[in-house]
Amino acid sequence: MSILPIYVFDHPILRKKADIINSIDDSLISFIADMKQTMHYADGIGLAANQVGSPLSLTVIDISPMTGYEQTKPLTIINPRILYYSDEDTDYEEGCLSLPYLRDTVIRPDAIQVRFMDENMKEHTIEADGLLARVLQHEIDHLHGIYFSDRLSSIRKTLMQNKLKKISRGDISPEYDIILSNGELITFQEED
Ligand code: ZN
Repeated sequence: MSILPIYVFDHPILRKKADIINSIDDSLISFIADMKQTMHYADGIGLAANQVGSPLSLTVIDISPMTGYEQTKPLTIINPRILYYSDEDTDYEEGCLSLPYLRDTVIRPDAIQVRFMDENMKEHTIEADGLLARVLQHEIDHLHGIYFSDRLSSIRKTLMQNKLKKISRGDISPEYDIILSNGELITFQEED
């Protein structure tokens, strides 16, 4: 397994709509394992394939590090489709491995029904609410080229402009390797 560099704002692949996966082979299975390892290494609870440079409709989620969700199993989500959104909205402070150091409160529907396939191409339809619904919506947004910052009010977006520019310039040093909008790789240097 290997830890992959994470593409950050505003690399073009993060604005692309993902391609449907029609078949699963060994190289995809090993890529999914790399995605999970990368997510854990970077302390994320979700990672979409375009965040590690792949155009595929694929995301991995593991919310078990979060208090109260220790029993929640990790998920591999292929070709997801949200079938239903609840009328009730909630707000929650989100972050994103592609937007290092940015956090803001995002309003989203509290519950969803989502259909997807797992790594065995078995179809699942699940109801999710709370944190799982939140992370699913955040990751499925990535597969449509959407960042959580796109969902903020225009005033919040304006306030974020300078921080976004810093990220795209590479004027940040998260504790994982990143690929900038121009394709440049910046490796994480452990400080003494
Ligand atoms: Zn994200």
